[in-house]
Amino acid sequence: SPSGPIQTFKLNDGRDMPGFGLGTWLGFISTSGNSKSQEVENAVKWAIDAGYRHIDTASIYDTEDQVGNAINKKIAEDVVKREDIFVTTKLWNDAHGRYSVLPALKNSLKKLNLDYVDMYLMHWPIAQYLNGTFYDVDYLETWEAMIAVQKKGLAKSIGVSNFNKAMLERLISNSSVKPANLQVELNLNLQQPELLEYCKEQNIVVTGYTPFGSIFPNKARSEAPPPRVDDPKLVDIAKKYNKTVPQIVLRYLVELNIIPIPKTITKSRVEQNIDIFDFKLTQEERDLFKSYDTNYRTIEPKMWQESPYYPFEMK
Ligand code: NDP
Repeated sequence: SPSGPIQTFKLNDGRDMPGFGLGTWLGFISTSGNSKSQEVENAVKWAIDAGYRHIDTASIYDTEDQVGNAINKKIAEDVVKREDIFVTTKLWNDAHGRYSVLPALKNSLKKLNLDYVDMYLMHWPIAQYLNGTFYDVDYLETWEAMIAVQKKGLAKSIGVSNFNKAMLERLISNSSVKPANLQVELNLNLQQPELLEYCKEQNIVVTGYTPFGSIFPNKARSEAPPPRVDDPKLVDIAKKYNKTVPQIVLRYLVELNIIPIPKTITKSRVEQNIDIFDFKLTQEERDLFKSYDTNYRTIEPKMWQESPYYPFEMK
């Protein structure tokens, strides 16, 4: 492996979670016709060859089959064993009812062609049909059904995504199993120090999604705050370590003690993104990165504000 050791996080249920992963969400695009594409399968194979041991998918991404194909092929090739790979998938909003969780996970496992996932996350606290209409299931009820699938061994660990601090507090004080993992948006413009501090106190490991935020001009909305990837200060720091700006951004997130899961289907970027474990930023550099935190969200589903369980600030 070109990179140094990747930190392993000890979960509150005793299991280990690799501190760096590959995202596999292809974005807001039509999924019809996607299923035949091999781009995610290729990316996951390159990732395993490059030393990734943690893959993030979700039933709504429509990439579970490709993720599973890649993992099963690498197992068949004797490159890895099943227990070496940490697979996360997520329960979609349309399966929050107490009798829907087990069939939803079984469906994910069938697509993945795996016997278990390492982490099963409730994708959002919101219960919603595929057509967009909300239905009233409290996430506490959904969580009880997730505890049941963990007891069956189909998910080794369970956690939540897109929960705010108040929701985590309510979940923790009303259930017998604490989430092992919280997955939320974390990047230069959304560093969420209070939420991270709370998770540290509660011994909940945090995964950071959309780690690049708005650094790439072609992905940034016009109102998105700086910096961009060509920012002179960032370019200078990157040069100093003989790295790229995306690499020093990922390194900063690693130094916040969170697990970044950058997505890429480009081979050179798959390899580049994990090659960040052989250098360390200075305090001064970390202070500069910290100064970009403006509490700006890239993932903000305002159309879900009508749900009683909308997790973010109302706009
Ligand atoms: P990312 O911040 O990972 O950005 C992905 C984009 O960055 C792609 O366009 C990719 O291009 C590009 N890119 C990646 N590496 C580089 C590089 N080194 N140089 C230049 N460009 C690069 O965004 P995501 O929103 O995909 O977040 C990552 C993952 O987090 C998702 O894939 C998903 O698994 C998870 N997620 C979870 C959510 C949740 O609700 N729980 C919500 C959103 C994401 P290309 O692929 O063309 O190379």
